[in-house]
Formats: sequence, C-alpha cells, structure tokens
Amino acid sequence: MLSRNPRLLTPGPLALAPEVKASMQSDLGSRDMAFREVTRDIRRAIQDIANAGPDYTTVLMQGSGTFAIEAVLSTLVKDTDKVLVCSNGVYGETAAKIMRRHRLPHVVLAYPIDAPVSLKAAEAMLREDPSITHLYFVHCETTSGILNPLEELLALARARGVTSIVDSMSAFGAIEVDARRHPFDILISSGNKCLEAPPGIAFAILRRALLTAQSAVPRTYTLDLFDQWRSFEESGEWRSTPPTHVAQALRAGLRSLEQETVAGRHARYAAIRDRLVAGLRPLGFAPILPPQLQSPICIAFRNDALVPDAIAFADYYAHLRAARLLIYARFHEASRSFRIGCIGRIEPGWVEATRAFARARRRAGAGPGPAERRAAMPERLS
Ligand SMILES: *Cc1c(COP(=O)(O)O)cnc(C)c1O
Repeated sequence: MLSRNPRLLTPGPLALAPEVKASMQSDLGSRDMAFREVTRDIRRAIQDIANAGPDYTTVLMQGSGTFAIEAVLSTLVKDTDKVLVCSNGVYGETAAKIMRRHRLPHVVLAYPIDAPVSLKAAEAMLREDPSITHLYFVHCETTSGILNPLEELLALARARGVTSIVDSMSAFGAIEVDARRHPFDILISSGNKCLEAPPGIAFAILRRALLTAQSAVPRTYTLDLFDQWRSFEESGEWRSTPPTHVAQALRAGLRSLEQETVAGRHARYAAIRDRLVAGLRPLGFAPILPPQLQSPICIAFRNDALVPDAIAFADYYAHLRAARLLIYARFHEASRSFRIGCIGRIEPGWVEATRAFARARRRAGAGPGPAERRAAMPERLS
C-alpha cells in the first residue's frame, strides 16, 4: 500500500495542482443554474484554447477519452462512409477496434510505434480510393510519445475534401491547435491529460455543420453526440447525471491553463522531458524516438541491460513504487520499452528519484556492461 500521496509520472491521470483538487468541494445540483454556468464556462474555454470560432461547437461527454472517440465515430460515421485510420500505436488501434465493433467501414494505414504517419502514404491512399470520406489520426500517439504531422494531415484532408478526425487526447492544451490557421473538422480530447483536471470528462470540438439530424446516425443512446449537443444548446444541461465535482475541477484547470498559456505549458513539460532524458541516459536508458519526433508529453525508454523484459520491468516498477513514484505500469513487448509521462504538476526533484534504481543496481555490481552501453545508443525498431 502507498502510505502517502503517490507522485504520478504517467501520461494521464496525472499529478494535479492543489487549487484544482480544492475546487471539488462544492456539491452542485446537476440542473441548477450554478452548474449550467460551470458547463458553459468549460465549453467556452475549450473552444478558446483551440481558437475555434462560432462555426465550431464543443460537446462534453461523461467518461474517459475513449468515450468521446466512440461517441464521435458511432454518431457521425455513416454506413456508407469509409474512414482511413492512420495508426502508429495503441490509440490508432483502439479507434479501429471501435469501428470494427460498430461495423463502420474503414481501412488502416499502420506503422510501427517509432515511425510517424507518412503524409505521402496517406495521400496515395486517399487518391487511390475515392470512397474514403474521413481521415482519422492521432496527434500525439501516447504509446511512444511520437508527434504525427498534424498541420500537414489536416491540409491533406481539406485538399481531398474528406472530414478530418483528430485524436488530440494527450496533446491538446500543451501543443498548439489553431482552428483558424489549421482548420480541423473534429478534434477529440479529455480533461485528464494536458488540461490537468481529474478523469471523468472528455469532449469533441467540431464544426457545427456536422451536427444535423441528417448527418447524425447515433448507434447508442448514452454516446449519442448529437443528442448530447442538442441538450447543451437547448437547456445548457447534460442529458444524464454529469460528474459535477470533476466539472468544477476541469473549470479550475482551464483557468490555470489560461494563465500559463499553451506555450508556457509546453515549455514546462519540455523541461521535464529534457531533465528525464538527461538524467536517465547516462544510466543506459534511451528514448526509442529521435529527438525531432519526441513530444514533451511522454517518453518511451528502453534499457536492454537493466530493463530487458516484462519481469525486469516489474522489478523497476516496484522499486519506483516503493519511492512513491508511479510510471505507466505496462511494458511494451515489441519495442521493449516503457513509458514515463512528462505532463501534470511534476516537480523536478521527482526525476532524480527515477535514477536511484540503476545506481542501486550498480552498487550491487550489476553493470554497466556492454549491453547497457549499447542500449544508450538511440536505435530504430524493426
Ligand atoms: C489517453 C488517450 C486516449 C484515451 O484513453 P482513455 O483511457 O479512454 O482516457 C486516447 N488517445 C490517446 C492518444 C490518449 O493518450
């Protein structure tokens, strides 16, 4: 058991600012005007971050980020549409799984987790298959922390006249998204990543023109994005019970982002990323991505000497956990890597604690050997 507050180095949920946690003390009524004001403030603030004008609208959804992804896909993709899913990690795969579950026509353009989505390949697929109506991609694929070429892919979708759907779950709030300079059709994110709020609310920012009785084909009741939007527009209320405390925390998180700015938040996360890489590299931990592809959101590290497999990872995880540090608890077998998040209220001193394991191993006489030195060299995955 963790006796004191764990320190999260995970890409969501994350360490929250005290004022965000403190903002959850009021018990508001879900249909009371005080809560309708919270809802209105959140929708407006999210849209402002995206620099999205009156031709866009924001729909909030109860649940984690995946709920909003499924709400968008299952409400707005028709049986006669076809989605090109660009995938270079688990979140691209999840989108494809959701479409399979709803039997939505789609094709997948798949890459290994250390390769960005190729604009050329996406363009060729759109050219060769005119029945494709939607382009789906992940902004920052949290599997590796890789950044996909957002602006280029959006420009491609516009040029080809297909609807763009962006999963910006782990990037929105820390990496600039600007609907005026680089218009998107639908962008999905959630409160518990770079907006630094607790989990429980996800959302889509989308063109109003997409929300019509003709274009919406809801396949579930609870994830009916169109009906949820109509409720927000008509009464300012959520259809079923909203997470009232989480909503207040999200509003507080959005206010804090307004003060920090997206650029300021980006810089704070990048400083944590650089500190992690600089601190762990001498101990044989190497990011699997080259620096130009590495986002400031999370880092996938590999260390073939100290953390060669899932069993060794469990040992490393337990060591960090004993120091009250939680990293993402899964080992990615194919790339032999594990993730450390750079987002949230991480204190620079926490980074130092991630180094203690390797040093303890060394004192016990375990390394560094040649394999560990090799692991310190960045290498591409096959
Ligand atoms: C976190 C995340 C999601 C959603 O995951 P949930 O567990 O449902 O919150 C989707 N896409 C990306 C890129 C993410 O980082």
